[in-house]
Amino acid sequence: MKRNIFRLAAISSTVALAGATLAACGDSAGGGDGMLAAIESGDVTIGTKYDQPGLGLRNPDGSMAGLDVDVAEYVVNHIAEENGWEAPTVTWRETPSAQRETLIQNGEVDLIAATYSINKGRSESVNFGGPYLITHQALLVREEESEITDLESLDGKILCSVTGSTPAQKVKDALPGVQLQEYDTYSSCVEALRQGNIDAMTTDATILLGYSAQAPGQFKVIEMEQDGEPFTNEYYGIGLAKDDQEGTDAINAALTDLHESGEFDRLLQSNLGGDEAVSPGEPGDLSFLDEN
Ligand code: GLU
Repeated sequence: MKRNIFRLAAISSTVALAGATLAACGDSAGGGDGMLAAIESGDVTIGTKYDQPGLGLRNPDGSMAGLDVDVAEYVVNHIAEENGWEAPTVTWRETPSAQRETLIQNGEVDLIAATYSINKGRSESVNFGGPYLITHQALLVREEESEITDLESLDGKILCSVTGSTPAQKVKDALPGVQLQEYDTYSSCVEALRQGNIDAMTTDATILLGYSAQAPGQFKVIEMEQDGEPFTNEYYGIGLAKDDQEGTDAINAALTDLHESGEFDRLLQSNLGGDEAVSPGEPGDLSFLDEN
């Protein structure tokens, strides 16, 4: 278990060179042919977040950056190479938390890497490769905040999270007294926190550390625990169409190589400053689904 989530991660400005063709219309994503067919065709549509520094961020010039962006690119390029195909052209698509399963089911994206926690409910609608990373739910408050120090002190406070996210659901279940406001994106929660319209926001420590590092001196990240354990474990997976087992196996093989080659540590370092809130997952091992 990682304890020191307060150590701020330096967010790298490294820009992943991505063919960020934003108008994703026409042909492409998925169809009925599965993710491998899309990669083989040379044109793959990947869903990620556009507003989460260090994880998935669209720069003003349209290029993409972040750990999820780099992991997804590694996976599709690795799969292409293993099969003797050309590296595919990537079309990026923004996939907010509440829309991820639907965008996969509709075939609008071939795969999603978007701080996407694997859980039982979601696994009924989509397949997951991974996990490739494990983090924990935490809190972001203004730097000068003194009353909110832990999970219990949230009672009666105004808390923000994002519709369709696991942290929103878990905090509702644990603290019925909290006034939860659900927004569409985390960047709108951060703005509300900055303006003083809410008292705290909650989601994965990785995401909160990214916002905190982006605005030095404005915010702090607070760990959430219950009975001495992290309040949640968030296992990040790569989502793809339900029952695309071939695609899932190929993603897991690529993620295993990503970890074993040391490339994952390099990507973690360059995007999140070697974030201590994170540990690598074990791709293909979904035994944690019985945890909760
Ligand atoms: N990892 C959590 C989830 O998948 C929170 C982050 C997010 O909303 O993307 O729901």
